[in-house]
Amino acid sequence: MSEKLDILEAVRNEYKQACESLNLDPAVYEILKDVERIIEVSIPVKMDDGSTKVFKGYRSAHSLALGPSKGGIRFDRNVSADEVKALSMMMSIKVALLNLPLGGGKGGVRVDPKKLSPRELESLSRGYVRAMNEYLGEKIDIPAPDVNTNAKIMGYFIDEYINLNGSRQELGTFTGKPLALGGSLARDQATGFGVALAIKYAYQRKDLDLKDKTFAIQGFGNVGYFAAKYLSDFGAKLIGVNVSDPRDKNGSSAIFLDQGFDVEELKNIRKEKGSVLSIEKEGVKRISNEEFFALNVDILVPAALENAITEDIARTIKAKLIAEGANGPTSPKAAFYLEEKGVLIIPDILANSGGVLVSHYEWIQNQIGYYFSYEQIKKKQEDDMVKALKEVFDMAEKTKVNLRKASFMKAIEKISQALEYRGRF
Ligand code: NAD
Repeated sequence: MSEKLDILEAVRNEYKQACESLNLDPAVYEILKDVERIIEVSIPVKMDDGSTKVFKGYRSAHSLALGPSKGGIRFDRNVSADEVKALSMMMSIKVALLNLPLGGGKGGVRVDPKKLSPRELESLSRGYVRAMNEYLGEKIDIPAPDVNTNAKIMGYFIDEYINLNGSRQELGTFTGKPLALGGSLARDQATGFGVALAIKYAYQRKDLDLKDKTFAIQGFGNVGYFAAKYLSDFGAKLIGVNVSDPRDKNGSSAIFLDQGFDVEELKNIRKEKGSVLSIEKEGVKRISNEEFFALNVDILVPAALENAITEDIARTIKAKLIAEGANGPTSPKAAFYLEEKGVLIIPDILANSGGVLVSHYEWIQNQIGYYFSYEQIKKKQEDDMVKALKEVFDMAEKTKVNLRKASFMKAIEKISQALEYRGRF
């Protein structure tokens, strides 16, 4: 069985277990075990050398019970139909957990974007929209950036979409757009801010606050930096950072500072010197990846890549709380071992859902033609995330399951109610 099939099987299994624990009509799993719509297209692109190359594009809409599908489009060599199906099934959970009137979607193009010139990349982006046009729309399917796509590509997408559809300015068809094209304030920081809110909430549940708690973070990119910034604003102390390092034989290395890093100083070093590893400051020690994961910290935030925490690494971890900023950073075996040891894991579907939440606000703002202030968005994100966190923590306590399973249960409970009222079973 291929790895991609494994991803699909794994997410189906999570749906099955949650449906069984909720004692739902078996029809719910039958409906949700596959996607409602999967589109595969061929996108011809005229290359700079005069030749034509044809790229495979996909878009999956999992469950449309709660509303139009929403989720990113990635440009990556490993994109496949099964991958986008599995990822759209995860998106259904994320959006339902957040109480959004949306379903799960995901799309992609099988391509190595580094091999395309800027003109070829624009042509591929516009070609994707032309091929998928019929199935895109503010009330149909709303894509966003994902791996190797960004606000600039959203700009090409929306421009092509408007040109194709009688000049209707339906800006809410894509989110994650540049501010000048109807993007939302506070979108950049939304995922990292959400990770920090999830951790703060977990401590509040135990009547504790984050003051003087220590944390270590893997990844200091968009998610990692903002998570670190807000955690330190909440009073926690960053003592370890692990990032990619092309000069190291493992491809990454880490830094440690007992008295705690200044997050803004690290950000400036990254900007000026290209990497936080270039910090020159008294007391800072270079440490190995193994030493990083074994740090004596309260909180660990993997915010870089999938499968970073294997079972072997899990055995060395001392943190009591792990908040998954990246998607799938803890292997299932590692998660099982850690939870048996009493470590609390806030799963990706909950911890890193701040991005899609603020994307939802962008969609609302585009449709009503009124733009919220930065403060309004921050406040709304906090309120909406705390509501979702409370619902999942309550479900976990009530049914004595971990937060990942509770997230699936809470989301599927909402989707199944919508399916029932639609008369689907
Ligand atoms: P990014 O490219 O901005 O940053 C990635 C960071 O990870 C960099 O600091 C890099 O040095 C580090 N890194 C890469 N390989 C590493 C390795 N082998 N060891 C240690 N560090 C390594 O990416 P991002 O937007 O911050 O996203 C990080 C993760 O979060 C990804 O898995 C992404 O899919 C997921 N995610 C992102 C968002 C979002 O809104 N950006 C939302 C949900 C999930």
